[in-house]
Amino acid sequence: MAARSIKPVPWSTRAALVEDVIRNVARINSSEGVRLVRGSHIVTKRLFDHDRCYFFQGSDGRIIFAIPYEQDFTLIGTTDKDHTGAPKDVHCTDEEQDYLLAFASQYFAKPVTRDDVVWTYSGVRPLYNDGAKSATAATRDYVLSLDTTGAPLLNVFGGKITTYRRLAESALAKLTPYFPQAKPAWTARVTLPGGDFPHDGVAALTAKLAAQFPFLTPYHAGRMIRAYGTEAFTILGKAGTAEALGEDFGATLTEAEVRWLMTREYATTAADVVWRRSKLGLRLTADQITRLDRFMADAASRAISPAAE
Ligand SMILES: Cc1cc2nc3c(=O)[nH]c(=O)nc-3n(C[C@H](O)[C@H](O)[C@H](O)COP(=O)(O)OP(=O)(O)OC[C@H]3O[C@@H](n4cnc5c(N)ncnc54)[C@H](O)[C@@H]3O)c2cc1C
Repeated sequence: MAARSIKPVPWSTRAALVEDVIRNVARINSSEGVRLVRGSHIVTKRLFDHDRCYFFQGSDGRIIFAIPYEQDFTLIGTTDKDHTGAPKDVHCTDEEQDYLLAFASQYFAKPVTRDDVVWTYSGVRPLYNDGAKSATAATRDYVLSLDTTGAPLLNVFGGKITTYRRLAESALAKLTPYFPQAKPAWTARVTLPGGDFPHDGVAALTAKLAAQFPFLTPYHAGRMIRAYGTEAFTILGKAGTAEALGEDFGATLTEAEVRWLMTREYATTAADVVWRRSKLGLRLTADQITRLDRFMADAASRAISPAAE
């Protein structure tokens, strides 16, 4: 088996797409690649007061959803737009916002307008480029492509949260012939961190948390269980009062939770905490987020300073 010479990918300067790695790093002549498809969302004030989702069908043949979101909001999405430019430079354009508003307004009793929008966000789907006519039609399935011209190189195109374990196991199955000592698939019945409770046990777990930590508001207890499951108990530890959770950053975000996110979930900035690990940014002011950023920078510098070791 011939060895490949693979140079490190410059992660710090740009996001490398799988096709960049295949062609520019592994130097394989391949026509396979990804199609970048932007999906944008709008978040509005709560448009309905039940906990079910709507799926709407549009005259363009697409569907969009309206989902109850973070208790006081409604999430409407998404779009399918071919994305040119860097994946990190992504935002919901005015055109996409108007498209989603007009689409949803066809179904709600009252039109949904820009005044209802409190936040927008977008992501880029790196889909396998199957040459489909439109971004909507491009396959959402992942594709695993094994190149054995040299040492085995497995290229992974696409992927979804709902199928990531299946993807990982399929990937290992493709590589097992080269690594016979690989462990057989084991993830089917293993819970995610904090997920070791019955799927219909959220209310019971929330009640248990509220009873153990009676100073939590119902919103706070519910949020902790939704975000952390059984790990919420560890985060709150032995606290007997709200003050024991340390600094209060607003919207029920406390120092105990921030420290957990920094040490266990690799959060380094306020944006990681209030947008990527939670959506508390919807409830915090710019000043509160700035204060959190300062706190985290300070905590990080103390953690790495020799004095703290
Ligand atoms: C519009 C859209 C709709 C989708 N819909 C669905 C769906 O309905 N169902 C489904 O199952 N999946 C869906 N997906 C796919 C799903 O979101 C992804 O598969 C999933 O988020 C991938 O998770 P991840 O943790 O691997 O990567 P990500 O969620 O992308 O997380 C990577 C994180 O790393 C950070 N990061 C990147 N580079 C660096 C760096 N150099 N240093 C530090 N941090 C860095 C990023 O900021 C990001 O927070 C959708 C994706 C998009 C874009």
